[in-house]
Amino acid sequence: MSRSQLLFEEAKRLIPGGVNSPVRACAAVGADPLFIKSAAGGTITSVDGVTYIDFVQSWGPMLLGHAHPEVSKVITDAVGRGTSFGAPCEDEVRLARMVVDAVPGVDMVRMVNSGTEATMSALRLARGCTGRNKVVKFEGCYHGHGDPFLASAGSGVATLSIPGTPGVPPAVVQDTLLRPYNDLAAVAALFEAQGGDIAAVIVEPAAGNMGLVPPRAGFLEGLRALCREHGSLLIFDEVITGFRASYGGAQARYGVDPDLTTLGKIIGGGLPVGAYGGKAEYMRRIAPLGNVYQAGTLSGNPLAMAAGIATLSVLQDSDYAGLEARVELLCQSLTGLFASKRIPVRINRLASMFTIFFTGEDVVDYAGAKRADAGRYARWFGHMREHGIFLAPSAFEAAMASFAHTERDFQAFIDAAESFGG
Ligand SMILES: *Cc1c(COP(=O)(O)O)cnc(C)c1O
Repeated sequence: MSRSQLLFEEAKRLIPGGVNSPVRACAAVGADPLFIKSAAGGTITSVDGVTYIDFVQSWGPMLLGHAHPEVSKVITDAVGRGTSFGAPCEDEVRLARMVVDAVPGVDMVRMVNSGTEATMSALRLARGCTGRNKVVKFEGCYHGHGDPFLASAGSGVATLSIPGTPGVPPAVVQDTLLRPYNDLAAVAALFEAQGGDIAAVIVEPAAGNMGLVPPRAGFLEGLRALCREHGSLLIFDEVITGFRASYGGAQARYGVDPDLTTLGKIIGGGLPVGAYGGKAEYMRRIAPLGNVYQAGTLSGNPLAMAAGIATLSVLQDSDYAGLEARVELLCQSLTGLFASKRIPVRINRLASMFTIFFTGEDVVDYAGAKRADAGRYARWFGHMREHGIFLAPSAFEAAMASFAHTERDFQAFIDAAESFGG
């Protein structure tokens, strides 16, 4: 037995499923998880001493790659000054300034500890501001594990085919109105019928949790117009796309201006951080300025703030277009390769993330994503891992490239793919 397998056996006795987040168990691809000893740049190394080129990148946060020297240094320095104060610190102001400067729709921002907290808080704020309860959510979008968002959710919920959500009272999800992603007409009809009750539309401006599904032209603009017309708030969940779709997120890339924005992943540089921000008129409704309550013992944690500042500082000067071009080239090579093998695929890409859907039809929504061949994805995952490439253990995720990946890493991906039998 490998050391990973031994650890997994012990973990299963102590931790539900042996993991602290479900998809990591690798059950959907019929594999056992690798336990990781260390990571550096574009690679991770298992406790068995095997190094893989990592296209998971902790599910998105590590856009600079693992253990980036500048990020590691500021974290180490910060540790010596104390790890939590429960009082404001200068780095909270600095990171808030960087977020406000970067993200067009954000005038003010509140730090929390995870993407889940960010979306829960943003929805509460939208409800508080509008005095309405209903929220429009799209099938296959994932907004963390908060009760109102677990209806037809993406990510692990999709991976494990969990249909409903035991433990979530029906009263909580009855206010969640589901519509297919990219279906603007369906949302328009919903507003026609119930517009006066809708507090918010929450959307991943490019969906990243049913596999990557970019918005159709006009979809985000249409949501913007409908929300404005009906007095509802438009929430962009940019926990994945923030600082990845572009430095200013998907909203900067697509030029659509949401009322509220949620952030996470990259903003913490690998430490647990989330944030929600938006127009000052709404953000001023949060306690202590307003009466919408939200708080956190460890929010604005000095280590996390330092990591976030260092990460964004390096990203500001990073060549996003260059990375995107390399990933586009990889996707083109893979498309050619699969065509030569007569394996039907559609590769969706945005900036440095992409998903290979094993299907012959374009994937524009969750129903399409589910029609892709999950069995083939499982074989693909196993094949690539055997050949030194670490991919997400789920067909409903995006592969993440980082600035630390080298030309050789991209070439290794293609080389590994070449021997995939289907
Ligand atoms: C990852 C993710 C979340 C949840 O963030 P956590 O930090 O895992 O709680 C929310 N929304 C989107 C779009 C995400 O990708």
